[in-house]
Amino acid sequence: MEITTTIVGAGVVGLAVAAELSKTRKGILILERNPSFGQETSSRNSEVIHAGIYYARDSLKARLCVEGNRLLYPLCEQHRIPHRRCGKLIVATEKDEEAILATIQDHARENGAEALELLSARQIKALEPNVKACAALFSPSTGIIHSHRLMRHYAARANKNGARFVPQTTVSRVEKQDDGRYQVHVAYPDGQTDAFASRWIINCAGLESDRLAESMGIDIDACGYRLHYWKGEYFSLDAPPEFIRHLVYPVPQANHVGLGVHATLDLSGRVKFGPNATYLPDRDLDYSVNPAARQSFYEAVCRYLPGIAVDQLHPEMTGIRPKLQKPGDPARDFIIAEESSKGFPGVINLIGIESPGLTASPAIARHVAALVAERA
Ligand SMILES: Cc1cc2nc3c(=O)[nH]c(=O)nc-3n(C[C@H](O)[C@H](O)[C@H](O)COP(=O)(O)OP(=O)(O)OC[C@H]3O[C@@H](n4cnc5c(N)ncnc54)[C@H](O)[C@@H]3O)c2cc1C
Repeated sequence: MEITTTIVGAGVVGLAVAAELSKTRKGILILERNPSFGQETSSRNSEVIHAGIYYARDSLKARLCVEGNRLLYPLCEQHRIPHRRCGKLIVATEKDEEAILATIQDHARENGAEALELLSARQIKALEPNVKACAALFSPSTGIIHSHRLMRHYAARANKNGARFVPQTTVSRVEKQDDGRYQVHVAYPDGQTDAFASRWIINCAGLESDRLAESMGIDIDACGYRLHYWKGEYFSLDAPPEFIRHLVYPVPQANHVGLGVHATLDLSGRVKFGPNATYLPDRDLDYSVNPAARQSFYEAVCRYLPGIAVDQLHPEMTGIRPKLQKPGDPARDFIIAEESSKGFPGVINLIGIESPGLTASPAIARHVAALVAERA
């Protein structure tokens, strides 16, 4: 097979891109360093189908999240990917947070998200008897999804269209050749190495995407491509079934790097709380959950779920956000860039694909396909 297109990384984004590009292109390789697909951030997240409420207006995050939300539900229904459109409450627990709800409602409208409904304390009680709040916004288009089944769907589509998935293959660097193509250097677990040429490089390497861009000769500091890792821990709640039936989020605090410790559900109805946000200055892949964080989780959550006790919380899991900002920096958008202007035509870098990357995945894939089509 003549290789035309190399996708680096088989997380939800690389797989979605492979499924989309393989509809019209031959010779696609998907290279993944792990033994299987989706073993990093794509399987360590809240599995929420976001509505596109909070992201900066006209940002890629906002546009691709709203589009991804609209694409995902029919995709799930058509291909029987487990999901639930359970809806989400953003709850104000203090009177002075109510004004923030109005701002969030306006912002969501500007982003094109499905309309949010303002609920009174009584309406909240009727929907969620265990939640204490003076007001809330209800987001009807927020839901949950089985992320592994979504990835399996994308992988199967790509495979059916002729794309080849190659696990246990680490791309060590990418070098520009004189003929306009790129030399892709790979390493295998046994220490063997290899190299081949490819016209297109789609960098979907998640936590390593900045380093891969750097290996090509891109100055990642000058371009603002350097990633910073932020760990997000989760605790599960030992509670009777249907303790809550919707996702419950606090009003986000200004300058918070996440959305605040919220209550999410998995498809079996289990409740988990998280993620918090801890900066990892050394970029280590530390997936441990610190049991001592339990008290701070409890304090965050009992503001809106006052009936729970601290010993109902148990360490669950961790994900690491590939963020473009370090502590104190303003929020950044996704980078999805075709790099002709930097002297690398045919390279598309996807960097900083943190939340809502899972939701946005089908829209990101279309966006990348459009960038390829422009130059093909
Ligand atoms: C705590 C947390 C909660 C989140 N919650 C949500 C949510 O509820 N909803 C939502 O929409 N989004 C959420 N997200 C975001 C979402 O999980 C990510 O945006 C998405 O998974 C990113 O997918 P990806 O394919 O870009 O990255 P990854 O899943 O990290 O995939 C990248 C792949 O590249 C491979 N790779 C890396 N380097 C190389 C190399 N050199 N050679 C070969 N392979 C390589 C890796 O092994 C990996 O498999 C959350 C993220 C976190 C961290």
